[in-house]
Amino acid sequence: MTNEELQKLTEEISIQFFNKTFRHQARFNRRLRTTGGRYLLRSHDIEMNPHLYEAFGIEELIGVIKHELVHYHMHIEGRGYKHGDDDFKYWLHKVGGSRFCQSIPEKRRTESYKYAYLCTDCMQSYKRKRQIDTKRYVCGKCRGKLKQVSLK
Ligand SMILES: [Zn+2]
Ligand SMILES: [Zn+2]
Repeated sequence: MTNEELQKLTEEISIQFFNKTFRHQARFNRRLRTTGGRYLLRSHDIEMNPHLYEAFGIEELIGVIKHELVHYHMHIEGRGYKHGDDDFKYWLHKVGGSRFCQSIPEKRRTESYKYAYLCTDCMQSYKRKRQIDTKRYVCGKCRGKLKQVSLK
């Protein structure tokens, strides 16, 4: 996944789950080690750990993007943006964001999956052992269009 794709994904998630626009930058930072992602208070940018995506796939990546977007939107709006704040907790729960941002979760990716798909409407992700025809199959949740994304 490139920085441009990450940027686009972050903007899409922001609209889809927060109904708010993400107006800053999202990029991968290879130097992040145990941190899945971080929100930069000064620049309002979001940095994501590429190892998170490589090791745990798109689902985990989206979970942490949501988490960082909660920091982002709460901070921009002058609301409680820290982990212990009620605003933060409320939105994290509402959008189903990952509880982790400080450290990469221990959970391991199931090795048997070879393909990953993402609904372009609701962002639901699917992992499959076999390839599926995205022209014929739609999202099980919202009937939206699926696109293949790389699992690693
Ligand atoms: Zn956090
Ligand atoms: Zn969907």
